Amino acid sequence: MISRIIDEKSIHKAKSLIDNAEQILVVTHMTPDGDAIGSSLAAMHVFSAIGKDVRVLIPDLYLAPLRKLPGAKEIVDGSRYPDFAEKLFETSDLVICLDFNEPSRVGRLEPLLRKCTKPKILIDHHLNPDLEADVIISHPEMAATAYLLFRVFCRLELFNIIDRPAAQCLLAGMMTDTGNFAYNCSDPELYIVVAELLRKGADKEALYRLLFNTTSENSMRLNAYAILEKMKVFDEYGAALISLSREELNRFHYVKGDTEGLVNRPLAIPGICYSAFMREESDCIRVSMRSVGDFPVNKVCSEHFDGGGHLNAAGGDFHGTMAEAEEFFRSLLQENKDKYIHK
Ligand code: MN
Repeated sequence: MISRIIDEKSIHKAKSLIDNAEQILVVTHMTPDGDAIGSSLAAMHVFSAIGKDVRVLIPDLYLAPLRKLPGAKEIVDGSRYPDFAEKLFETSDLVICLDFNEPSRVGRLEPLLRKCTKPKILIDHHLNPDLEADVIISHPEMAATAYLLFRVFCRLELFNIIDRPAAQCLLAGMMTDTGNFAYNCSDPELYIVVAELLRKGADKEALYRLLFNTTSENSMRLNAYAILEKMKVFDEYGAALISLSREELNRFHYVKGDTEGLVNRPLAIPGICYSAFMREESDCIRVSMRSVGDFPVNKVCSEHFDGGGHLNAAGGDFHGTMAEAEEFFRSLLQENKDKYIHK
């Protein structure tokens, strides 16, 4: 079996809040990913199965492949139905917040969440939770909220209630946040949970295809073009840069999500430990950065691009032309050569 990491008091309190609720509202972060959607839908499946009226509310649109997860049709997009979103906060007896650590992460739902006086349970794996909730189950050492949620279900004695759709959604969350068990995945118990989810009927191969090997023709061509024509490799710094202008994005009929993961690609080249991707938006140049090892991209982003993030994954904005952004990036490489770059 798996170890008990969640304290008894939190479980006890969560259980009584859930027992006493008829209508439960599940809320997750903006631009929800597979962990956000997977966890939210799993909560919907499991708590519905014990007789609760469960609604899943998200702040904005999410990526098309996730709409194929079981139950996704039930999701309420708060950006399309703001009045209904408000009503859900009013009529629910309990709000369960999944996969985010502070109110600003729910984007346009933030005012509703802040003024909501209903009991709240937060279940999350991001650092430093800063949200007023009656129960906070925060475990940053957990690879995914879905993984933590599975543990919550077990502790609430709901393991037997997890059916095939719930298992599929939980596994989707775990696969998303570990890159299909490529990173953040050294916890042996992760695989015990995977085994249990497979036993419950989760289809890992279908999820792999859905989450990691589905792309539109336009996106595939845009990414191929970006690597072939636009990737600059700075061998002497162990760095790479890809930039895409508005015109280039338009040429390939870019839609949100089309360049997802592109920033990681140069890191596959031996010797490259720092990669940046710049995309021209209507009001700024959006910058994302990735690294391997101890090169702190969050530091670069917070110091120079008005952003931040994690040691190995961060982002920010640049105000100016693409040519200026590229030049600035080059000057940073030169300046920080000794400070940051470890080949
Ligand atoms: Mn997550």
